[in-house]
Amino acid sequence: MIPDWESERRRMVERQLRGRDIRNPQVLAAMLEIPREDFVAPECRILSYSDQPVQIGHGQTISQPYMTALMAQVLDLDGTETVLEVGAGCGYAAAVLGMLAARVVGIEIVPRLAAQARENLRRTGRDRNVTIVCGDGSAGYSETAPFDAISVAAAAPEIPVSLLEQLKDPGRLVIPVGGRNDQDLLLVQKHKGTIRSRRVTQCRFVPLRGGEGWK
Ligand code: SAH
Repeated sequence: MIPDWESERRRMVERQLRGRDIRNPQVLAAMLEIPREDFVAPECRILSYSDQPVQIGHGQTISQPYMTALMAQVLDLDGTETVLEVGAGCGYAAAVLGMLAARVVGIEIVPRLAAQARENLRRTGRDRNVTIVCGDGSAGYSETAPFDAISVAAAAPEIPVSLLEQLKDPGRLVIPVGGRNDQDLLLVQKHKGTIRSRRVTQCRFVPLRGGEGWK
């Protein structure tokens, strides 16, 4: 039997997001609209709306829905921003951010995942303002920098300096920082030349690879 994806999506938004601390109406609307099942490999589709990360191949995962929503919420977007998403994976979070910002550039280090993300975004009609590039996003993406907001979906040992440099003032960066197995999700804000950061929650992400990640 084919699941009723729309009901699953509604239930996910009610229980996993609204039932916790996701209050931003635009974030809730985006999570209700983007078909998460279209970003997950066919063999894992049944798990599309489960309250956990799901395998997407190449040892990588699509983040737990709550984490995608929380990261989008703390970026506090108003629809005018240019956003960099580091670690685009299958393109799901990039699609969500695409509904909340003017333009999204997603960067993914695994070429086959970057191709998959592009295909998922095209098939779901989300590629109008969302572009996927393949490369090491630990160094940001200087071609289209600076960014009003940056969302990093892989855990770094420290906040990469390049990302701070490519962040506008004012600007917001959300990133998991810590050890390989557990991290703090940090919200870093640049404002009038100063950088402030606060811990949002504890989290567990796959490692950020590359020059300014885990070698
Ligand atoms: N944003 C995804 C989550 C993907 S998991 C979602 O929508 O659910 C994190 C991704 O970061 C993986 O696909 C991994 O390959 C990628 N990654 C790790 N290090 C990277 C780097 N230095 N540059 C770009 N992508 C990276």
